[in-house]
Amino acid sequence: MIGRTSRSRGDRRFRFARWTLLLAVLAVSTVIGLLHQKARHLGVVGVDALCPFGGIESLWALLTAGVFIKRIAWGSVVLLAGAVALNLVAGRVFCGQFCPLGTLQELFGVLRGRFGVTRRESPRIVDVPARMLKFGVFGVFTWLAWLFGTLVIRPYDPWVAYHHLTSPELLTEFGIGTAVLGVSLAGSFLYDRFFCKYLCPMGAFLALFSRVSWFRVTRVAPACVDCGACDGVCPVNIEVSKVRTVVDDSECIACGLCVDACPKSEALEVRGRRGGHLTPLALVGVTALAMLGIVAVTTLLGLMGFTTR
Ligand code: SF4
Ligand code: SF4
Repeated sequence: MIGRTSRSRGDRRFRFARWTLLLAVLAVSTVIGLLHQKARHLGVVGVDALCPFGGIESLWALLTAGVFIKRIAWGSVVLLAGAVALNLVAGRVFCGQFCPLGTLQELFGVLRGRFGVTRRESPRIVDVPARMLKFGVFGVFTWLAWLFGTLVIRPYDPWVAYHHLTSPELLTEFGIGTAVLGVSLAGSFLYDRFFCKYLCPMGAFLALFSRVSWFRVTRVAPACVDCGACDGVCPVNIEVSKVRTVVDDSECIACGLCVDACPKSEALEVRGRRGGHLTPLALVGVTALAMLGIVAVTTLLGLMGFTTR
């Protein structure tokens, strides 16, 4: 019998560890945002200075003039470096195991389950071109930031809007970002990871080279029993059960959910190009160690810059 009750591989430790990491990062980010808004005297930096996309937006100024553009600090570059290094090793684990905006969207997917609503999937004719949008968002806003030396995306950024939920500027300066946030969360309630799939510039950047990662989800067709459990849990709607060998799709966010859901341990694994494999739990561990490690080291060196003084 194949199904949820016969699943031999579902690992509670993985799901617990993954949600612990996701929620912890979301909680810390939220607290930093609140302190920035409500306790200005503490000098806590704004969300922009702790977003890896800010590192990309500031890269030109940093390389050509040795300065950051306004609101960006080393924290953005540190997180960007961590996300890129992890991308080369294990794919988009930054998205699948760490990003707080991804977590917020997944929480709305969980909410859908609680309400007994069925997940929807956009028709291919809409879905395929819509997924290209995020590459446009990435290209246009990176170019504008490099051109003008300022965070042009800021008023449209749902993550900045989230960090201004208690601000009087929420519906004025950040009105569009708030609308994007609302659409993204409502979309994630129905479709899963709506913003990640269609609009996120950071996800687009990581997708550009996620295919070269060392570890990738790999399917061993003869061992597969075609139960479709992997397809059902994939938050970005990859048909894992149809993949011939490797999930060579830049949309994969390396969440590990498909591997965890597979009832046949030998059918689906996160494998290295020259052997070896990572369990879904190890994906979480590697992400936590790399991201928290790099933040801890740069904080100890006084480079992270959580405060402006
Ligand atoms: S695609 Fe963007 S919002 Fe989604 S998890 Fe990745 S960085 Fe976060
Ligand atoms: S293919 Fe698997 S690891 Fe990749 S996003 Fe889908 S469920 Fe997650």
